Amino acid sequence: MATFSTLGLTAERAAALLDARELSCEELAAAYLERIAADDPALHAFLHVDPERTLEAARRHDASGRSGFAGVPIALKDLFCTRGVPTTAGSRILEGYRPVHDGDVVERCQDAGLVSLGKTNMDEFAMGSSTEHSAYGPTRNPWDPETVPGGSSGGSAAAVAAGLAPWSLGTDTGGSIRQPAAFTGTVGLKPTYGAVSRYGVVAFASSLDQVGPFALTVRDVAALYAIVAADDPRDTTNVGPAEAVVRPEGEDLRGLRLAVPRDQLTVGVDAGVLERFEEAVALAVSLGAEVGECTLPHASHGLAAYYLIAPAEASANLARYDGVRYGPRTDGPDVQAMYEATRHDGFGPEVKRRIMIGAYALSAGYYDAYYGQAQRVRTLIRRDFDVAFADYDALLLPTTPTPAFRFGAKLDDPLAMYANDVFTLPANLAGLPGLSIPMGTSDGLPVGLQIVGPAFSENRLFAVGHALERAIGFDPVPPRLQGVTS
Ligand code: GLN
Repeated sequence: MATFSTLGLTAERAAALLDARELSCEELAAAYLERIAADDPALHAFLHVDPERTLEAARRHDASGRSGFAGVPIALKDLFCTRGVPTTAGSRILEGYRPVHDGDVVERCQDAGLVSLGKTNMDEFAMGSSTEHSAYGPTRNPWDPETVPGGSSGGSAAAVAAGLAPWSLGTDTGGSIRQPAAFTGTVGLKPTYGAVSRYGVVAFASSLDQVGPFALTVRDVAALYAIVAADDPRDTTNVGPAEAVVRPEGEDLRGLRLAVPRDQLTVGVDAGVLERFEEAVALAVSLGAEVGECTLPHASHGLAAYYLIAPAEASANLARYDGVRYGPRTDGPDVQAMYEATRHDGFGPEVKRRIMIGAYALSAGYYDAYYGQAQRVRTLIRRDFDVAFADYDALLLPTTPTPAFRFGAKLDDPLAMYANDVFTLPANLAGLPGLSIPMGTSDGLPVGLQIVGPAFSENRLFAVGHALERAIGFDPVPPRLQGVTS
């Protein structure tokens, strides 16, 4: 077997190595498993790995013959139901739960021949922006282990950045793919609401949740999106992608009209993030795009609206964890006491906070003032985007106002933690696709450029992201890991 490193290895390159028979599927899977064994004790990107099961799946592809991406490994956020394999959603309340079914995206990965390396760490029930809310302990950022990898899909992002998986799947309800992609120097896509099935995805906020890919390149993200995006009758809000997914090749942006919503960049954006952003905008111009300016007058209310709508939906979705149907139970003298004790012991503090906010916002007498009002704001934000997209093909924004922060920096201040999502939430509220690509570093940590387009414009986002990615020339291997071989 040729010596090679999983660091910086794209899924396309891995598939090419398999095609050329330079590696077997088993050798490729074994290389990732070795890296996981060596690095994951410190990183904690994974909650569950089962090396024997992974190698067995890889061997099956060696034996049966393969094509496309078959035999390429993948990591899955622990929010996806996996038949017979622990699925915790990062929560104690699902400890030991082994679903009897696979989620739609899990089935589609299997049908494409992808080999699961395991389940990745995440904020409990996908509530958070740092993965510090995992009941099983945080994940570290491969770029600097003293900083968070972002959240809630922090494990999926860190695994790709550290070469523990060539690509992975996460979910994004308010930014949980794009924000950890930005913090770890990876590429992440939050697809259009309805493009990817939510069947078998543990629900957080059903009108906002979307599944999407992480990878080292836009082309890999497009390839994984093509595998998982499909029409699934088991999710009634799902229609699949509107057109065949195109893996981007073009290197210029001629004929594209892009806009920067400058009104969004006025407060609280880190100077390094702004510098990289202006450089990326200038690059877009040099690649031939016409770059103008627009406004999103209601987007500043997005944070307030999201933090009513998401907890309201979560409080309803999480009512099912009662000690009867799933996971561990804490007994009590009667059934009501048993429910209360189970939920008291099983849910962490952030989840309890969301349930309380959500139940309050939905209660009689407050419903219209809070939930109803937030839904009206949501409509206004969607209309802001409609106005912008009448003149422009896509918008450019930073993905986050700052690079990765240190552990504990925002843990005692929920509002500071929520403010991280200010640039990602509007796309979720409006159901739009958003792609985050690395646009360089600030103080040695990666920062992300976000490209937001109209519903079902993923192919356009891939084209813009690919051309900019090539022009930016970001090296996705964290400097402290350069030179590590497996
Ligand atoms: N940080 C946001 C929240 O805590 C978004 C999380 C997500 O996208 N799952 O709700």
